Amino acid sequence: MSEAGRVYLVGAGPWDPGLLTLRGREVLGRADVVVHDYLVNPELLAWAPEGATRIATGHRPGRLSQSEICEILVENARAGRTVVRLKGGDPFVFGRGGEEAWALAQAGLPFEVVPGVTAAIAGAAFAGIPVTHRDFGSTLGLCTGHGQGDGEADPVDWRALAAMDTVVIYMGVKRLGVVSAALMAAGRAPETPVALVQWASRPSQRTVVTTLVRAVEDAAAAGLGPPVTAIVGEVVRLRAELAWFERKPLFGKRIVVTRSLEQQESLAGALAELGAEVLSLPSIAFAPPDDDAPLRQALDALGSYGWVVFTSAQGVDTFLDALRAVGRDARALKSARLACVGPATARRLEVRGLLADLVPERFVAEGLVDAFLAMGVAGERMLLPRAAVARDVLPEALAAAGAHVEVVPVYQTIEPPADPSVVARIAAGEADLATFTSASTVHHFRRRFDDDQWLKVCSSIETACIGPVTSEAARGVGLSVAVEADPYTVPALIEAIRRRG
Ligand code: SAH
Repeated sequence: MSEAGRVYLVGAGPWDPGLLTLRGREVLGRADVVVHDYLVNPELLAWAPEGATRIATGHRPGRLSQSEICEILVENARAGRTVVRLKGGDPFVFGRGGEEAWALAQAGLPFEVVPGVTAAIAGAAFAGIPVTHRDFGSTLGLCTGHGQGDGEADPVDWRALAAMDTVVIYMGVKRLGVVSAALMAAGRAPETPVALVQWASRPSQRTVVTTLVRAVEDAAAAGLGPPVTAIVGEVVRLRAELAWFERKPLFGKRIVVTRSLEQQESLAGALAELGAEVLSLPSIAFAPPDDDAPLRQALDALGSYGWVVFTSAQGVDTFLDALRAVGRDARALKSARLACVGPATARRLEVRGLLADLVPERFVAEGLVDAFLAMGVAGERMLLPRAAVARDVLPEALAAAGAHVEVVPVYQTIEPPADPSVVARIAAGEADLATFTSASTVHHFRRRFDDDQWLKVCSSIETACIGPVTSEAARGVGLSVAVEADPYTVPALIEAIRRRG
């Protein structure tokens, strides 16, 4: 018989993927089977191997029963598979992890527990509430209120719980009424402060501060649905000073990022760091040009150019990759000088071991034109490797100034498939701001919506554009431009969005 596989009962934390432990991530990385709860952030599943079987235990109705879940764990471990049971928060805090571990122990199967950040701790932390504090609370109690008021024998000693300085209630929507009543009946003051934290650590986190006596009413008035963790006690008052998460400059803002999948992270990561909820809708992708004959000819003649002019980082990469593909390297450029439209393009060149000789003061094609005209380009042979479809400002101005200009398409921009759920959210008016880093992202974004949807998008969303050409494209399709970067770079775009808040 093959050796039994090990089962890891892993706490996924509240939501933010950064709150999974290193150990949790490591065992996920070698799972054959991942069995996950509905409260677990789906992003965590990406850390499991691609071929791993993913089993969702589901949400009511149609949820797997506890005994079915235990059976899945036991069967897979018996078959020799490495199983990760991924549970929201901590597996042993109101997570029925104890029952699962018990079933595994009974079956004689090896298991390990990887603790997680439980909702009480995460909810309090992200709401800016220290669960203990030398002056405001030195004891902490956790409860769900289960068994209270539903006909079962009440397992909770309410007097003992009410005597804790801080009490945290899980299942804070459904159980709030019975628990707050029980705490008051056991002697807790009706005016005791309560914080209701919904979706702790998500960009959509909401916190409602109330009192024991008003908690149910205020939760309903605010329309709070699960998951909510309720924190009861004097420590809640500290939130007035300490609510760090909700005070991030872009907290509560939903921002669409339309850059290519490969380039999403630098912008999306920075916006998320500032507290925004990022709706990722890559609206541009890069493909080889339909006809690569001009590129091949240009590569053959590389030694004859006085200048090679790059207008995008993508152009740098595809041009140098094409050179590499024909078995040559940067030495083929001989004495050609290199110009870049802006610092990101120049940086990409630098990463590839080359320094730009010219970067204009204004990071648009017109800026390059000015710089070249100032130095004079009559008689120069100039190569412009760039997108198949692009503005002609630069080649026309250079040619008019007497240069021999060769425009060579090294890539084309295409529309990648869109995630329909993100498109639907934007069409429903859920996004506050859309970011655009080129005119093509604007045009591709526009085409993701039908005309009716588009009216709604234009009235609900503002845009942040990297520069005047992109802004003009946005206005051209009916969008309003709230923010324009200056200088025309992604870091400046992020800073402009942050300043606007
Ligand atoms: N094992 C989990 C608790 C599961 S019980 C843990 O340790 O956190 C489910 C309850 O946890 C929810 O009803 C809610 O009260 C709380 N909860 C889980 N995730 C939460 C989140 N992101 N924000 C607020 N409460 C959460």
